[in-house]
Amino acid sequence: MRVFNFCAGPAMLPTEVMAQAQAELLDWQGQGVSVMEMSHRSPEFIALAKGADADLRELLTIPDDYHVLFMHGGGRGQFAAVAMNLLGDNGKALYLRSGSWSKAAAEEARRFGEVDEIEVIEERDGTKALNMPSFSAEQGDYRYLHYCPNETVDGIEISEVPDSPWPIVADMSSCILSRPIDVSKYGLIYAGAQKNIGPSGLSLVIVKRDLLELPSLPMPSIMDYRITAENESMFNTPPTYALYIAASVFAWLKKQGGVAAMGERNQRKADELYDYINQSDFYKNPVASNLRSRMNVTFQLADESLNSEFLSQAKARGLLALKGHRSVGGMRASIYNAMPHQGVLALVAFMDEFAKAQQA
Ligand SMILES: *Cc1c(COP(=O)(O)O)cnc(C)c1O
Repeated sequence: MRVFNFCAGPAMLPTEVMAQAQAELLDWQGQGVSVMEMSHRSPEFIALAKGADADLRELLTIPDDYHVLFMHGGGRGQFAAVAMNLLGDNGKALYLRSGSWSKAAAEEARRFGEVDEIEVIEERDGTKALNMPSFSAEQGDYRYLHYCPNETVDGIEISEVPDSPWPIVADMSSCILSRPIDVSKYGLIYAGAQKNIGPSGLSLVIVKRDLLELPSLPMPSIMDYRITAENESMFNTPPTYALYIAASVFAWLKKQGGVAAMGERNQRKADELYDYINQSDFYKNPVASNLRSRMNVTFQLADESLNSEFLSQAKARGLLALKGHRSVGGMRASIYNAMPHQGVLALVAFMDEFAKAQQA
């Protein structure tokens, strides 16, 4: 039985995509073998990869002067790859800190060069609010400004693109394809696949070609954007099965009406949950309303001693993986593209019943 899986990642994938993968597991396209047992250099697989590239470019309206790269190593692999590829000798970068993942990205980049950090979240009366400074080129000769538009652990979303004089690098691991974006505002966008794209391990990079003109540090070839681009993401064997699932997810997204339609659906799902939490005394959320993530809805029970009871009753109702990240505690409902509206309705109904039973 499929349940509603609120895991932050690896996250649920569309049931249609999983069913198709199951139907094709032993025999893909009538070839008598699985897609995972085929050469990545076969014409069939190359057609799949080209189709994934074309669908993604269409979904996100990616301009022609950007490379689309499929790489290894997930989100954290890109923490290192971004720095190795873009910092160059003696290069410096500016990292905005808004939560756990942007902090981890800055720490990794510091292994390869100089990194300045600015904290952009502040607490006002127990509420987390955005404190985004304005930037000017005189502040420093930065190769890039890095930020994380959706902080998966903290449930924080920065929906406006920073006004930056330097090329912007964005970690979109947990929000890519969840709504329309203007790719031309970014120098580079990257994402680990396991939230909104497909299986873990795969990573996606969308990079403006002219960012790759500066000399970079010596690095492993499989992390090198130039080598990956020259070889159309097949310098070595790509994670072929993950790419096959990603291609299916892109096709599924097109059938759903693309990212504009997903954006509307995701907004309605998030509103449903936040509206319920807002009017409740039993549940609370410490994030300012204009900063709340549409993908990862964090909340706390006013009485935290009920946490394990809440989680076990939720699980018994087919509402899985609601436990918040160990670093912040509380609860977290991750409601990526694949989570249907009914899943959110079922969660709200359960939360309400649970609250009433405790208050009775
Ligand atoms: C999950 C996540 C990562 C880490 O991805 P891995 O594939 O585990 O390395 C990085 N950044 C964000 C925003 C994430 O949500």
